Amino acid sequence: MEPQTKTLIDLDAHPDASENSFNRSWTGNALRLIRTESARSGTTPLLRFPVFAESGIDVFLKDESLHPTGSLKHRLARSLFVHALCNGDIGPNTPVIEASSGSTAVSEAYFSQLIGVPFFAVVPRATSKEKVELIEQFGGQCHQADDPLRVVSEAKQLADEIGGHFMDQFTFASQTTNWRADNVADEIFHQIRSEASPVPRWVVVGAGTGGTSTTIARYLRYKGIDSRLAVVDPEGSAFYDAWRLQDRSVTTSTSSRIEGIGRAKVEPSFFPQLVDEMIQVPDAASIATMRWVSARLGRMVGPSTGTNMWGVLKLAQKMHESSEIGSVVSLICDTGIRYASTYYNDSWLQDQGIDILPFTAALESFTTTGQLIVD
Ligand SMILES: *Cc1c(COP(=O)(O)O)cnc(C)c1O
Repeated sequence: MEPQTKTLIDLDAHPDASENSFNRSWTGNALRLIRTESARSGTTPLLRFPVFAESGIDVFLKDESLHPTGSLKHRLARSLFVHALCNGDIGPNTPVIEASSGSTAVSEAYFSQLIGVPFFAVVPRATSKEKVELIEQFGGQCHQADDPLRVVSEAKQLADEIGGHFMDQFTFASQTTNWRADNVADEIFHQIRSEASPVPRWVVVGAGTGGTSTTIARYLRYKGIDSRLAVVDPEGSAFYDAWRLQDRSVTTSTSSRIEGIGRAKVEPSFFPQLVDEMIQVPDAASIATMRWVSARLGRMVGPSTGTNMWGVLKLAQKMHESSEIGSVVSLICDTGIRYASTYYNDSWLQDQGIDILPFTAALESFTTTGQLIVD
């Protein structure tokens, strides 16, 4: 038997080794580009949102809209790329494919461009022109699927046909994110440690892939932090019933109208057993609250941020009623600039049959009474 050599120095004796070492140095460089991008981007700010201060309840919002690609999916895309590179799934010319019409495709297009590989997003045909343009702005290409239910299978098929790598955000969101350190929860607890209530009573997030809620839940357990995790869920999503019944097989026949959150089935990265409380939020409440938050911040946030804040207000009201003091933390998930022609457009709302007025009124009276009452 020939002794196995561990070095790749004798290239003639090992015809594959030169390509191998080339790929290694390419991969090393791609990972370095991602590390330097991360160092440039830094952490996102934790904003104090003054709404309950007099009652002894502090609300904090981690502003994930300030990532270079405008949403919390920047973190997910970075983790997926690091994982795929270290796994040898992406090499110098490997096309990267994702099934997404939203923020994930935008962020993945950005990282593909950063390391110099082609990117393809398989999107439903109904995807708006604005979103396709956003993906194209970072050098990505969109393939339209006629049947919205076949977006994932068409993405897999495309990856097979062109020898690409299917990223599969819904499967890998909870697997590629480091839940022990170096994640959104770690940043939050670092940033809040000098506040009056450094251990929030609640952390409130929505679930799309479920990756964010799972990462936070695991982090809380791992670090032994006594905060509770609440997940807000839009109308028609399967996550709420899956949690209530502790049954992953729950499905719904409707699709979510709140971009980024709510799914018709329980995605592999969502773990109902890790969630302490779930709150179902009407779509009109999410949109009314989105506008309410934007008016208070002086800049536009996306609709899932409205869903988060509605949940925050509900929990804070309960805390207030039982004379609890403390803090509640949530996220600004993405910028609202993307939604000027939809959620911020009154005639679009009318076409969708969404009436936000009762919720807008409830938010206005909340500011004076501390009660969130919908007539
Ligand atoms: C993906 C997404 C979420 C939910 O995050 P997950 O980690 O996928 O559960 C919330 N808001 C927006 C805008 C998103 O794109």
